[in-house]
This record gives sequence, C-alpha cells and structure tokens, in this order.
Amino acid sequence: MGGGAAGLYVALRAAEQGAAVALISRKPLAESASYWAQGGLAAALAPDDSPARHADDTLNAGRGLCRAEAVETLAREAPAAVEELRERGVRFDTEPDGSLGLALEGGHSARRIVHAGGARTGRAITGRLTELVAAQSRITVLEETSAVALWSDGSRCAGVVTDAGPIGARATVFATGGGAALWRRTTNPWGAIGAGAVLAHAAGADLADLEFCQFHPTALALPGSEYDGTLLTEALRGEGAELLDASGRRFTDELAPRDQVAEAILDRIEADRAAHVRLDLRSLAAERFPNVFAACRAAGLDPHREPVPVAPAAHYLMGGIVCDLDGRASLSGLFAVGECACSGVHGANRLASNSLTECFVFGARAAIAAASAPSSDAPVRLPKWRFDPPTAATREAVWRRAGPRREAATLEPLLDDPYPLARLVARVALDRRESRGPHRRADHPRRDSALDGVHMVIGPNAQARRERWS
Ligand SMILES: Cc1cc2nc3c(=O)[nH]c(=O)nc-3n(C[C@H](O)[C@H](O)[C@H](O)COP(=O)(O)OP(=O)(O)OC[C@H]3O[C@@H](n4cnc5c(N)ncnc54)[C@H](O)[C@@H]3O)c2cc1C
Repeated sequence: MGGGAAGLYVALRAAEQGAAVALISRKPLAESASYWAQGGLAAALAPDDSPARHADDTLNAGRGLCRAEAVETLAREAPAAVEELRERGVRFDTEPDGSLGLALEGGHSARRIVHAGGARTGRAITGRLTELVAAQSRITVLEETSAVALWSDGSRCAGVVTDAGPIGARATVFATGGGAALWRRTTNPWGAIGAGAVLAHAAGADLADLEFCQFHPTALALPGSEYDGTLLTEALRGEGAELLDASGRRFTDELAPRDQVAEAILDRIEADRAAHVRLDLRSLAAERFPNVFAACRAAGLDPHREPVPVAPAAHYLMGGIVCDLDGRASLSGLFAVGECACSGVHGANRLASNSLTECFVFGARAAIAAASAPSSDAPVRLPKWRFDPPTAATREAVWRRAGPRREAATLEPLLDDPYPLARLVARVALDRRESRGPHRRADHPRRDSALDGVHMVIGPNAQARRERWS
C-alpha cells in the first residue's frame, strides 16, 4: 500500500524476489510526500566520513530515544543503497570531476547528503522508480484505490480491504506515509493523515512514539495563503542562508538539529511578539534551488531583495507502526516501511535526510522478508470497521493542542476527538510527562532522564505501555 519512495521500492525489490505484487495507491504514483522531498538522502560517502559518524549524528539528534541497532543498520547500509539507486538509473548531482556532490544539512557533522536535480531529489527518484515499476511484469499497479481496512481478525493479516474490494495477500506491506498533515500547519501533502497507523491499529497492530512530531523550522509563514507551510529546505541553511529576528539580527546556529532550531525560532517569535522570523536567501544562487525560488516568487516574495517570513510547521511524524528491522509489524502478515513505520531509527527527532535513506535501506530488507512470508489457508473474516478521514476541525485542534508547545490542559480535550490518531497522539503525549525533542511541555519543562530509551507503545486496547528497545 502506497506509491511513494518506500512503496515503489518495496514493490520492485519484492517482484525481483519472485513475488507477484499488487501496488495500491490512493493517489497516482509519485503523488506523494516522497515526490516533494527537496533535500536528499543521507549516506556516509565522503572520504573523511564514516557510517559510525553518521550513526553518532543520528543518535545525537534522536535525543536519547533511538534504537541503536536500527541506527547502525541505516548508517551501515546507506552508502550501498545510494550506489544501487545510481545503478538503477537515478541521476544524482555530481561535481565537475564526476564524484557525487555532497551537501551539508543541520545536525550532520559531515557533508553527506546526495541530491538529484538540485532540490528536486524526490521527483527524480520517484520518477525513475515509477518507470521501473511500470516495466516490471510481476507488479500490478492499482492507482486511485484506497485501503479502508486491513483484512484481519486481530491476530493475522490476510490482506487489505480497499474501496474497490478486498485483496488477499500472503504479506501486506504498508508504505502509506506519515501523519504530519494531521497538524493544520504542515509542510506535507494533505493526504499525510496517518491512515496506515489508524488502519493497522484498528486491525490489532502496535503503534509507538506518536507523541513525537517533528516541526520543520523553516516553512513559509503566509497565513491565509496557499503557500503557507511551503517547505524551505534545510539545504538552504547548509549553503549559508541565515535566520534573522525582527530587528534583522542572527539569533541561532542555523545548522543545529531541527528541534533546536525550531525551538530557537519559537522563543524568538514569542520574545519579539512577532508572527514569524525571516530567512535570508540573498547570498544564494537561484539556479541551485530553482523550485524554492520559484515557490517564493509564486507566493509574491522576492528572495533576492528581502528575507522571507518563516515559522515552524509540522513535518514528520516519528511515531507509527512498530516494526523490526525487516519491517515486520506485531500483527502477523503485516509489514511497515517508510514514514508510516516506527523502527526506532529516528528516536524523538529525525536527523535531516535520513527518511529517504530509511525507505531504501529498510525497504530492501522488508521486501525480502515479505516475499518469503509463509502462506496460510486459515480463513479470516472480513472486518466491518471502515476508515474515516479527519475533519478540518480535527487538524486545527491537533495543531493548537499537540503542537510544539503543549501541556496537559491543552492535550486532554483531544482525547475525545473523533479521529482515532488524534486521540492516540493525545494519550501518549499526556503520558510522557517531560519535554524532549520537538516539543516543550509547559507543565513538565525538563527532559526526564528516567524516560531515556523509553517508547510509549499503544496496543489494540488503546492503553499505552512503556518499552525499551535494544
Ligand atoms: C516537502 C517535504 C520535503 C521533504 N524533504 C525530504 C528530504 O529532502 N530528505 C528526506 O529524507 N526526507 C524528506 N522529507 C520526508 C520524506 O519525503 C518522507 O518521509 C518520505 O518520502 C516518505 O516516503 P513514504 O514512501 O513512506 O511515504 P509517501 O511518500 O508519503 O507515500 C505514501 C503513499 O501512500 C499512499 N496512501 C496513503 N494512504 C493510503 C491509503 N489509505 N490507501 C492507499 N494508499 C495510501 C499515498 O497516496 C502515497 O502514494 C520531506 C517531506 C516533505 C513533505
């Protein structure tokens, strides 16, 4: 399920393992968050870099909550994943000498981000993967088809129920993307509402880390405009873009991890009683970031003349469907890959450009595991439950009540929201009585070291339990 980077790649790899694959996507292929990815993929490719250093940076950004084994796997397998994409025909940007161009982003201690087409990386990758999927005879593509339930009896997943009918499968892989568009102010496409997590949970799978939503520091701040929330990639700051306060002064390290930069911006907005800070792009070459400059111009801004208004917006839900390093969920027959999955690799705060890498590193592993999943003849009855999307009121409530600043009093009313994921976010956000990573709780302003490494896991009974993952 899902036609973004994770879904396309898993389908391809599983078909190459000999599996017959149905690739099902609510939207046409490549109309996904993956398509919009601007930055790139993180991999330790520079001579002075190493997977150990990449892993250290990821652990540091994850604020004491990363699963070390997942981080080591990501960092170790990332360089081969980039090489494999090149061999499949993805054309990453190169230096004049033919070596891969490597960019710097916040929280990375080395240049390790590969791009394609400048800030059009997602477009380039999903475009190429779509071509490869179309040419693979073992894959049947069903576009504009939505999953509305999992075909599950609570102990085994036998496939998926779509709005076009049920589809049985030995293995069902969810690659349905994230949930950051549940927060009204978001950089994500509107379909990123955590449908995969809602469906998986209704079918009996465990979810975790839902209290951690990353707020990207630099999204255009243009209330009322369709461009409000447009992402201005981290790579701009990597190339020298500066953050300025109301009096035009720099106020923070632009290349700190995202949670730190977003926090500094929110503090400055409060201190200045302003609606936004500004990002100064005047020293940057428009040709290097054509889509960013084009989006600013379309929004009526001239980034060459004056700094543009920015403020944090919901960008990435670290939590999702609990899975192991081969994508296996707690519900037999179900796998999760990409942003809908929660392997613990991102901890409380994802390091920039680790998520596309995650799609390929863990996508390859999940494809192999899913393609060799055993078949079962035991019948599973079709469930009656059907998915209902969130309303605009829910998105507004989640943004106001479970945003980067929260406390028990703002979170509690969300426990009665009609959208299940809003209720689950509130449940675990209330249970985690501390401030960590992307959010600050006014009633628990400090990080609690007793909660280091502790994941809030929600099982089918909707009660949160605490787990430590090795
Ligand atoms: C603007 C922007 C810029 C980003 N830049 C970067 C970057 O530079 N580097 C990086 O690493 N990460 C970046 N990210 C994050 C990254 O793009 C995502 O985490 C990643 O692409 C997720 O891929 P995915 O395949 O898991 O999900 P998606 O790409 O979101 O795809 C989800 C798919 O599932 C389908 N789907 C959803 N629900 C259903 C349903 N019920 N039934 C059927 N189909 C369904 C959707 O239609 C879609 O095809 C960015 C995100 C955004 C929004």
